[in-house]
Amino acid sequence: MSDQNLEIMTATHHKTKPDPETLEFGKTFTDHMFIMDYSIDHGWHSPRIIPYQPLTLDPAAMIYHYGQTVFEGLKAYRTDDERILLFRPDQNFKRLNRSSDRLSIPDIDPELVIEYLSELLKLDKEWIPTYEGTSLYIRPFIIATEPNLSVAPSATYKFMIILSPVGSYYKEGIAPVGIYVEDEYTRAALGGTGTAKTAGNYSAAYKAQDKATAHGQAQVLWLDSSEKKYIEEVGSMNVFFKIDGEIITPALSGSILEGVTRKSIIELLNSWDMPVSERKLSIDEVLLAIEENRLEEAFGTGTAAVISPIGELSWKGKQSLINNRETGPLATKLYETLTGIQKGKQPDPFNWTH
Ligand code: PMP
Repeated sequence: MSDQNLEIMTATHHKTKPDPETLEFGKTFTDHMFIMDYSIDHGWHSPRIIPYQPLTLDPAAMIYHYGQTVFEGLKAYRTDDERILLFRPDQNFKRLNRSSDRLSIPDIDPELVIEYLSELLKLDKEWIPTYEGTSLYIRPFIIATEPNLSVAPSATYKFMIILSPVGSYYKEGIAPVGIYVEDEYTRAALGGTGTAKTAGNYSAAYKAQDKATAHGQAQVLWLDSSEKKYIEEVGSMNVFFKIDGEIITPALSGSILEGVTRKSIIELLNSWDMPVSERKLSIDEVLLAIEENRLEEAFGTGTAAVISPIGELSWKGKQSLINNRETGPLATKLYETLTGIQKGKQPDPFNWTH
């Protein structure tokens, strides 16, 4: 189909690139962006790369009213020999389709979209920072654009990809954070949208994050919505615990986001003959393990930080230290191996990089 051919309109003005040593998360954007449109008659069409610019939408566009939208997050790295590496992009675009399915949004062709993304990255290659710990964060997203106040799926959509150079998550080395166990708000319920990357899940978490911050903790630990007993996720990360030698991560319950990092860590640990128990894990089991000195390590996993060790849990006014607030050997080894593969500095026996 001719309207599937990628059109490229290059920017005539190039923005000043930020200082890689003081980069913040998600505040600067590159010179170009990708965009394509959906209509019922034409499906996804008119893929194009254009100079980065604002969008003009009708105030009645359905995204503004009922939040019909999905997004993804992944990173690109530039290697010493000038290759651009993506980490398992197929997983992100398959997950985008699963999110879209939940939000009644039409699916995209992951292979085609990875080709479009590759062209965008080639054009904005100089924006991929190479300074230690930095990367280019990639934000694909879909919004409902039909001007219509009916509570029903939109007839038109835009799929876009924007790029943002981001700084090192750990400026002073990988460091454990404190976690506030949330016992009032929940993130997602069975049958809800917790397994989808959709905007409402994130804005609905701000209240709980405010509480965590007020309690001096960095992130929220979410419990299940029905019993407020079982551990689900930590902030925007999946979570792992090592208790008495058993490595445990909450099973995909139907309300947890299936992280690409989570999946990769399970596969990596399996390859090291360290199986992971994907099972229900209650907050009581974790607190008892801390009390009895059986909790060896705990860490969150996600694209942003890769591995984020947990050094403290705050639950109903009581603080419990984990591993003396030190980063454990398992978190360290996983962090070094995964980031080594992502940056092309280690062999990639799984063929994860693209
Ligand atoms: N849970 C939530 C709610 C998230 O937003 C993310 C980030 N995408 C994750 C877990 C971790 O997923 P991933 O490893 O794919 O980044």
